[in-house]
Amino acid sequence: MHLTLSVTTRNRSEMIDITSKIEEELNRSGLKDGVCFLFVPHTTAGITINESADPGVATDIQEMLNKLIPWEGSYRHLEGNSAAHIKSSLIGNSVMVFVESGHLKLGTWQGIFFCEFDGPRSRKLYIKFQ
Ligand code: ZN
Repeated sequence: MHLTLSVTTRNRSEMIDITSKIEEELNRSGLKDGVCFLFVPHTTAGITINESADPGVATDIQEMLNKLIPWEGSYRHLEGNSAAHIKSSLIGNSVMVFVESGHLKLGTWQGIFFCEFDGPRSRKLYIKFQ
């Protein structure tokens, strides 16, 4: 079985640091050593691990993605949100983190970010501790 976490996004494009929420779920699960799998079941959102110490990093990532993949363009997808689909594929929709001594084994500066590309919306994140 997996857990489902709800993520409410507030902007079209947004990176939300969910590290503490995942740690809370990990504590609740009681797992001490294993792996944590995170999966985003959406085609216009994603998940990534990057620096959380300086919030400027997440802002830079979003601004550069917006420059590289503008919202308006000669896209074929009729729904009008092709940019969000492309960003989702570039960022990816799953990450895996080791669990050691009951904690996520992240690097010193790393955080886990839920990435919204077509918000605001109510989103889901699947979590599996094993
Ligand atoms: Zn679409």
